[in-house]
Amino acid sequence: MVGMLTMRELLGQNGPLAAALDGFRPRREQLQMADAVASTLESRGTLVVEAGTGTGKTFAYLVPALFSGRHVIVSTGTRTLQDQLYHRDLPLVSQALGRPVKVALLKGRANYLCRHRLSLSLSSADLPGLERAKQRALARIERWSLQTDSGDINELESIPDADPIWQSVTSTRENCLGQECGEFRACHVVKARREAQSADIVIVNHHLLLADMALREEGFGELLPGADAVILDEAHQFPEVAAQFFGSRVGSRSIVSIARDTSVELLRAGLLETKARSALENLEQHVSAVQRALSGLAERTDWVALPDSVLESLNELADVLLALGTQLEEMAANAAGVRQCSRRALDTARRLVEILQLDDAAGLRWSENAGRNWSVEYTPFEVAERLQAQVDARPCAWIYTSATLAVGDDFSHYTRRVGALSAETLLIPSPFDYESQARLYLPRNLPEPSDRGYTSAVIDAALPLIQAAGGRAFVLFTSYRALAEGERLLKSALGADAGFPVLVQGEAPRDALLRRFRDVGNAVLLGTGSFWEGVDVRGPALSIVVIDKLPFASPDDPLLKARLEGLKREGRNGFMEYQVPQAVLALKQGVGRLIRDNHDFGVVMLGDPRLRNRGYGRAFLQSLPPMTVIDDGDEAVRFLQMHLGSLAPSKSA
Ligand code: SF4
Repeated sequence: MVGMLTMRELLGQNGPLAAALDGFRPRREQLQMADAVASTLESRGTLVVEAGTGTGKTFAYLVPALFSGRHVIVSTGTRTLQDQLYHRDLPLVSQALGRPVKVALLKGRANYLCRHRLSLSLSSADLPGLERAKQRALARIERWSLQTDSGDINELESIPDADPIWQSVTSTRENCLGQECGEFRACHVVKARREAQSADIVIVNHHLLLADMALREEGFGELLPGADAVILDEAHQFPEVAAQFFGSRVGSRSIVSIARDTSVELLRAGLLETKARSALENLEQHVSAVQRALSGLAERTDWVALPDSVLESLNELADVLLALGTQLEEMAANAAGVRQCSRRALDTARRLVEILQLDDAAGLRWSENAGRNWSVEYTPFEVAERLQAQVDARPCAWIYTSATLAVGDDFSHYTRRVGALSAETLLIPSPFDYESQARLYLPRNLPEPSDRGYTSAVIDAALPLIQAAGGRAFVLFTSYRALAEGERLLKSALGADAGFPVLVQGEAPRDALLRRFRDVGNAVLLGTGSFWEGVDVRGPALSIVVIDKLPFASPDDPLLKARLEGLKREGRNGFMEYQVPQAVLALKQGVGRLIRDNHDFGVVMLGDPRLRNRGYGRAFLQSLPPMTVIDDGDEAVRFLQMHLGSLAPSKSA
């Protein structure tokens, strides 16, 4: 037992962590963060902390959280981190501290078998027309359902997560019957939430946390009322998730699934008579009518540009949904499944009417048109007020952390977005020696990014570095078009026997490409967005990171448009107050791929000349780790050769 030790003793040279964990090194930065987290837990305050790469931020919040003996919710942006915390970090820390704690990993409901929907699917499994493969998969799920305790669909490895069959046997908030469900007592979602409520530490994701904050899981027991603290890791992703969460969406897929589920439920209840059948057919016809009205329009169309025919067909669809919902309500009698379908139809009608009648000052509306599927969506301009109201309503500690939250040393961009204006902020620089471990190469004389020859100039500038290192590079692009052009140019410049493989995003799933990159040890990987964050490659396998342009979000992105509109309305400068800070944070993520531990070294090449010739360039440069800046390609090559030593190809090669 560790008794009443201080953070310094717990995380120090002679502390229990150092004794229990191989390779644990005390770090000043980690201790600083742990102290701040401990005092925030104590005071039930709000802390926003940026912890540079290598701080060891996971332990810096887990140690005080476990040591405090309080009920803590840890929320992450990704499944990978959720799993890592649950399977690796928490057991390690708990064992080292000698504090057995009850930990629960709570996933979204799509990860648990829904016993009610399984029985619905099985009852329609014999219907003619159902594919054999689907029938076989259902039979396998049924066998597994008899043995599983958790109902976590990951247990059934023979059916991958992405298999569409899971949609038929897992629930959504809309189609779940809640307390009216005959399976409620044995429900896996209910059980998982109950376990989470009684745990000391609960690991959730940002979406679940928001659902809990907004009380959108009525009847399933809430987590927040029992919590003393909420710690959000990967907190840079939280505002985006919140904007999606507080937005609204109505799409063809969910309406068609209402029609399908209604027909199965009515059949089960012996209520599928002619009138109901024709109401369902009518619904499907109106879904197709919207699709026809949208055909010919772009993939994404702003609301103001939608022709009257689209609005008329959407209004008619809302009427049809309303009529169906009312009709089902009258028929439902004792059939809980039919009642739920009625609620889904009415709820969808209500959301559709809301989107149709929304005030333009409240948010941005648009349509999406993807062949047979369509949707209409809305996203609010601001979510800060709502978030703040939720946070204020809970008297517990709130801790937001990530490696990228500040622009320079300013947190206001982030705190404004999450409504945590009065939070304490703390900036913890990375403990790595960037000045000697890394070079920031800013090649001179590259054309403007809008120039047609720009990507070619970037590849020309990066090529000598890649050749000097014998591969070992990430080349990150800000668009798919530039990625395709970069691939063509780089492959043709390297010729058939470059001596190292060139991997390109899209050739294989992301994780498989990363595994290959690590295994090969000298590959070059070309990618866009998904490789900018959450990628950890240590050692010389990754010695160069090339970034083609400053990562400004696409001006066509409706979310971006929504925010800019909102800022303009307030008389503020959207470019400087939103676009630049967002791009700074994204660039910090991309650059952060290079140096992952004390022994790493390498060169970051940023091609974009706007870093030097625009006033805002300084905001980017000041936010990056303190690497030595160079503008001479030969110097970059010498730096790589010096560090790679015998790993670098010989000069005549
Ligand atoms: S309560 Fe909801 S999730 Fe649970 S079995 Fe019933 S319908 Fe499925």
